[in-house]
Amino acid sequence: MNRWPLGVFASIDAGLGVRLEVAHELGVKTIHLHTPQQESRTEGQAREFLTQLDDFGITITCVFGGFAGESYADIPTVKETVGLVPRATRAARLVEMKEIADFARRLGVNVVGLHIGFVPHDTTDPDYREIVSVAQDLCDHAAAQDQAIHLETGQEPADVLLKFLEDVNRENLFINFDPANMILYGIGEPIEALEKLGAWVRSVHCKDATWSDEPGVSWGAEVPLGEGAVGMETYLRTLKNIGYTGPLTIEREIPQEPERQKAEIAGALDLLDSLKTKIGT
Ligand code: MG
Repeated sequence: MNRWPLGVFASIDAGLGVRLEVAHELGVKTIHLHTPQQESRTEGQAREFLTQLDDFGITITCVFGGFAGESYADIPTVKETVGLVPRATRAARLVEMKEIADFARRLGVNVVGLHIGFVPHDTTDPDYREIVSVAQDLCDHAAAQDQAIHLETGQEPADVLLKFLEDVNRENLFINFDPANMILYGIGEPIEALEKLGAWVRSVHCKDATWSDEPGVSWGAEVPLGEGAVGMETYLRTLKNIGYTGPLTIEREIPQEPERQKAEIAGALDLLDSLKTKIGT
């Protein structure tokens, strides 16, 4: 694969990404796939998805986990509902996350991503140890079928995430870096974080955002690529500096406005193409 093939976050019947047909119309050849709903994760459906992807010439580079009941309505709701952290759903979601990894395996995909949720920033919190153990369990399940786990950035400052990765201490654990999340959640400058986390970054999202007036309390705003505070040229130059060669996967999750979503992704593809030429990949 050439350095930095362009990609897009896509969905089949769950999640907020673009439909496969739209990815195809946009000429995109790699996707991060939001996991289909539980009832669609069958052997037969996997074969159908693979046939369709083959027709489109599209490769899935990562299957992203997600769960019913998650809400990104505001930052407190994310803390209560997202990932493997909320206690009430933790055990059941760990089981389901392993099933999602198994489904990814059926699709021939060896990378599984997820928002693990808000890991306690205080490592002496008893919950911190338990979440480390949950992550180890998931990594071991994935390792047994030659898969890596990529944790999405955003909810933790870089130093907290680094400490967590070290504490989980698994060779198949890496990062999916999302620069806009650092801004949306108000937890740190994304470029600085990327430099710190560089050795762990094995997949990325290309997404942009503006800062909130109250970082960490209320959301910033997700905006079209190139119009936010990330600084796309600096982002790509930093990816080059850390030696990242994988796909650049555009994430623009406004499925309620499909025409605008498609147009903005087309704009993002043009922007990334021109920056790739400028930077010289
Ligand atoms: Mg993302």
